[in-house]
Amino acid sequence: MVENPKGASARNKAKSKVPTGVWIKCKSCREPLFAAELERNLMVCPHCDYHFLLSAYKRIDLLTDEGSFEEYDADLSPVDVLSFTDRKAYANRLAETEKKTGTKDAVVCGLATLEGIPISVAAMEFGFIGGSMGSVVGEKVARTFKRGLESRRPVVIAPTSGGARMQEGVVSLMQLGKTNAAAAALADAGLPYVVVISDPTTAGVMASYASVGDVIISEPNALMGFAGPRVIMETIRQELPPGFQRAEFQLEHGFVDIIVHRKEVRDTVARLLTLLTPDNK
Ligand SMILES: [Zn+2]
Repeated sequence: MVENPKGASARNKAKSKVPTGVWIKCKSCREPLFAAELERNLMVCPHCDYHFLLSAYKRIDLLTDEGSFEEYDADLSPVDVLSFTDRKAYANRLAETEKKTGTKDAVVCGLATLEGIPISVAAMEFGFIGGSMGSVVGEKVARTFKRGLESRRPVVIAPTSGGARMQEGVVSLMQLGKTNAAAAALADAGLPYVVVISDPTTAGVMASYASVGDVIISEPNALMGFAGPRVIMETIRQELPPGFQRAEFQLEHGFVDIIVHRKEVRDTVARLLTLLTPDNK
């Protein structure tokens, strides 16, 4: 494995996407929110607790001790192997998205500490083509597990994704097996893996590393599943129960272990790692 630790350059570029001095309407309760205040509140609506999308770097901040995150593989960027064009050429889409998000693909990963506990960590960037998983996301997630294995650290991953990246065809589907094999190697070594799901986490990512954590945490009301509710409804031609595939539904059906408010995610993960890692007791 070629290790490629990176400093803070990409991180600073991508750190904040919320313009200051503007108002944003809450997608849930429709209350106007001051952007800077929303950001201070970890992108959670103070009126109705709606959890807005969090960028990958903000999520890393939430899950790591200040100044401890050392980014790896920030320079890995996808190759347009199929010369794929949908509404626009994949190559152009990649270039535009990189400019918008400041990341070269839909996941940020590295080593860090959380409440002093060394971890291997990754967080997904939904703003990068819907957080879709192609060859680079799969490789970076697999390396996150491998780094955990090699340095005997627990792994913490925060997925948010629409699934496999269709523009990479079968190469994107291969990443399901690859990431799960890497997660299994970590489990075989007795090292814990904690997943922190946020809205939405679906399809190929949910069908691979997002669903195999030792503990699966979800933010409130996060949508998760393989096919989305609309596709299922059209296939089975039946109404779905209220809250179908939302975190609370999945908790009730045993898929999610804990639902945790964003403000408490950090403490919860730290506590779990202390319990799951004998060395940290
Ligand atoms: Zn609200």
